[in-house]
Amino acid sequence: MSPIIYGPVPSWRLGKSLGIDLLSTKGKTCCFDCVYCQLGRTLHLLTERRQFVPAERLAEELESVKGLDIDYVTFSGMGEPTLASNLGRAIELVKSVLPFPVAVLTNSALMDEREVRQELALADTVVAKLDAPNEELFQQINRPASTLRLKDIVSGIGKFRQVYKGKLVLQMMFIAENMHHARELAKMAESLSPEEVELNTPLRPCAVPPLSPEDMEVIEGQFARLKVVNVYKSPKPEVKPLDIKETLRRRPKL
Ligand code: SF4
Repeated sequence: MSPIIYGPVPSWRLGKSLGIDLLSTKGKTCCFDCVYCQLGRTLHLLTERRQFVPAERLAEELESVKGLDIDYVTFSGMGEPTLASNLGRAIELVKSVLPFPVAVLTNSALMDEREVRQELALADTVVAKLDAPNEELFQQINRPASTLRLKDIVSGIGKFRQVYKGKLVLQMMFIAENMHHARELAKMAESLSPEEVELNTPLRPCAVPPLSPEDMEVIEGQFARLKVVNVYKSPKPEVKPLDIKETLRRRPKL
């Protein structure tokens, strides 16, 4: 049985980040199949939540990482962490054992579900994906499960914003398809009032080339009314993963 805790990984967003993979499936399990995904194609395209690994297993593994020097504990891994129906229980467990803030990296797909919002609200930071300003680009870039619609996802993020007391970050991946839609995405972001917007482009190996630093600078200019972090301007800390093989499985390039 492979471990569900991996890393720490160097994160340009969260510093030294210890990963928790509540899915831990062999291939990727997600509600999207994004064209730029560093994990390759989605093997299990799902929208129904279920338990993949029991919380007891996480409790056991947490005992062995108590003394680590990290900045964040981050729920991410082999796909979309909100698909794990025990996410809320797992966040509570981490917070009861480790003295670090907890983040969840989500693709936002299930945020229209009340239960998902309630569980995400237990985290200190929620990093929610939003790459497309319209349904056509959403289908093209994120290649979602057939039942998902962008308007419901944006509505879900909005409902979450109204109640969430932690730090809400929007993460936007810019590639050739959406680079000329930065203004529309900035307007959407303004309406959702995040604490921060992460402007990303795929710098890790994947099927899609990244935009240049100059293109990202132009995009950043469209977000003048928001606090932004540009991937090209964010240093990453030095870290040594506990298990390099298990870490590279979830994150092919550190
Ligand atoms: S949401 Fe994340 S894990 Fe899922 S396909 Fe997109 S990039 Fe990959």
